[in-house]
Amino acid sequence: MGLEAKLTQDGFITTTIDAIVAWARKSSVWPMPMGISCCAIEMISAADPKYDIARFGSEVMRFTPRQCDLMIVAGTVTYKMAQVVRRIYDQMPDPKWVIAMGACTSSGGMYRSYNVVQGIDQFLPVDVYTAGCPPRPENLLNALMTIQDKISKTRARDFQDILPQKLEVETR
Ligand code: SF4
Repeated sequence: MGLEAKLTQDGFITTTIDAIVAWARKSSVWPMPMGISCCAIEMISAADPKYDIARFGSEVMRFTPRQCDLMIVAGTVTYKMAQVVRRIYDQMPDPKWVIAMGACTSSGGMYRSYNVVQGIDQFLPVDVYTAGCPPRPENLLNALMTIQDKISKTRARDFQDILPQKLEVETR
């Protein structure tokens, strides 16, 4: 179950708020599918019955950033597109995570070109990089599990300062 809990003889479960929040959060990571080029096909495959990303609670891909907490950037990011990617990332509520899927996204890949960003970590905080051109769906699922592992180590109070700041910005 992954939830740090103890079942006593009387049938009670004892745990911590941090463990419950982290368990719920990691079991319902909703991706923003930032499919920009060919890597996106493998990202889409991860949702089919063979790879079944629903096993991890992440089949709910959303196309509105307000409902997402994981951005999967899959494809070649040009400088022109980078501005769009960053804006969408900024519109996602905290806490949020980023997967750089594939060689192009992670490092520019084979495109040593003036118009291609040589790695999205130049303008986004990346949590996990996946190797490959393109990475297989299993590789993406492995990245998702790594994100889940990171989330399970968080505490609810790690993000307590986020909400007031956001509300302040949104009410201006
Ligand atoms: Fe396409 Fe390969 Fe670049 Fe992925 S890493 S976007 S498959 S060229």
